[in-house]
Amino acid sequence: MRLDSDMISYDAPKPRSLITRSLAGASTRPFWLEDAQRPVFPDGPNVPTKWDLLVVGGGFTGLWAALLAKEADPELKVALVEGERIAWSASGRNGGFVESSLTHGQENGRVRWPRDFDTLERLGIENLDQIEATVKRLKIDCDFHRTGSLNFATEPHQAEELFALDPEKIAPAKVLTAAEAQAEVNSPIYKAAWLDTRTNANVNPAKLAFGLAKAAAEAGVEIFENTRVLGLGKDGNRVGVLTNRSTMSVGRVVLATNVYPALLKRYRPFTVPWYDYALMTEPLSKAQLKELGWKNRQGLADLARQFHYYRMTDDNRILFGGYDAVYYPGGRVKARYDNRPATWEKLARHFLITYPYLEDVKFTNMWGGPIDCSTSFVAFFGRGLDGLAAHAAGFTGLGVGASRFAARVLLDLVFGRTTELTELEMVRKLPLPFPPEPLATIGIQTAKWAADKADHEGKTNLILETLAKLKLGFV
Ligand SMILES: Cc1cc2nc3c(=O)[nH]c(=O)nc-3n(C[C@H](O)[C@H](O)[C@H](O)COP(=O)(O)OP(=O)(O)OC[C@H]3O[C@@H](n4cnc5c(N)ncnc54)[C@H](O)[C@@H]3O)c2cc1C
Repeated sequence: MRLDSDMISYDAPKPRSLITRSLAGASTRPFWLEDAQRPVFPDGPNVPTKWDLLVVGGGFTGLWAALLAKEADPELKVALVEGERIAWSASGRNGGFVESSLTHGQENGRVRWPRDFDTLERLGIENLDQIEATVKRLKIDCDFHRTGSLNFATEPHQAEELFALDPEKIAPAKVLTAAEAQAEVNSPIYKAAWLDTRTNANVNPAKLAFGLAKAAAEAGVEIFENTRVLGLGKDGNRVGVLTNRSTMSVGRVVLATNVYPALLKRYRPFTVPWYDYALMTEPLSKAQLKELGWKNRQGLADLARQFHYYRMTDDNRILFGGYDAVYYPGGRVKARYDNRPATWEKLARHFLITYPYLEDVKFTNMWGGPIDCSTSFVAFFGRGLDGLAAHAAGFTGLGVGASRFAARVLLDLVFGRTTELTELEMVRKLPLPFPPEPLATIGIQTAKWAADKADHEGKTNLILETLAKLKLGFV
């Protein structure tokens, strides 16, 4: 079928002067972290201390683990240590999409965990419902809205794939024609869309993380910032922990350190850092909003393997990110990788192609951050120190919602409970590790090239098929 918008793609030309102008003056600080309400927690402790449970890492995974543990047992002495500031890394820099999927999308889940897929879908929706309920119960002011999502076909072959779907099988999600998609959000590049009202919420991620930290502290969790764990080891039937401040003796330890080097060294080969980048516009004017449509403020993305994601804030800005995630040879986390002008320019160009009538809009912030990529695209779980420590990482860019699920798994594992969650194959089995360098760089760059080619050509290729057979990436 030929669509009016067939000819418009992200390869369309745009004057460079427009792109430079739109980015001029943008700050390289993550927009969400400019929040004045950011709480401050003390450093320390500077003397040896004892805790029943220590949580390492002050992002979503660690915050949920500390809060859930304390709420379940108010007598438990719980501490959380964060090497820098609460939510300074991925948890404060992301797009704020709270997705229900625990499997990084249905296709990935169906192929990798066929036995558990339906259970994982149910647990994912329950997890999102419980996040919403917690936000309400604790009155966390974090702009949480159950907006649903719209995934757009921006290439003709994607539209054809959507139109071939059986409406009954995909209900309550549905496929929109180009005209219907453009009536939701006005862009000449949209050729069709997949609308799902249940599976996504949008949030201001930093406000959510700060709210969780405040709630945990009010419940009695001791939170320490600028407190880095340097090492841990078994000490009798407890765990001895060395920090940059002092030592701790802890009953159990939850390791929620994400992309940073795993404290249980055996889990280091299971993640590599990918850098993802985003832009934030200034607030749109009333006239611009009218032209845009987007009344329902869904979370938006396109249907490619390498996709853009974008959403609106409560003060009518647009966050536009993704597409050009970068793996830097060597696989290290480095502050200088947070800045990548070439990617910001590419994103600005794609933004202007998507919304040509927003030519005058300026970006106020442009930033980046590391994503903990795993070969299964979801978090894996590991134990150590004779079961007194549990570790999770590997969310691969979809951890805002899944981190709460991971926190529950971590607590089950570290307290030795057998539950529905610990019986899941996804929890019990580790994914394949990444090979050492330089093989990792060669493999990842090849996979990225193959994914880009498949996105443009509308068909898979030998490299992707081989990786899928090996359970090493895009299915
Ligand atoms: C640009 C970008 C956009 C994204 N967009 C989305 C999105 O829209 N939706 C989505 O679901 N996901 C998204 N993600 C991914 C999501 O943000 C993460 O999966 C999630 O925040 C992970 O939370 P976390 O707590 O596991 O990790 P983090 O937030 O990284 O927290 C880990 C913490 O551990 C601390 N730490 C590490 N080692 C030590 C140590 N030895 N001692 C003490 N502290 C330590 C670190 O300082 C860090 O603060 C995005 C990520 C990025 C970078």
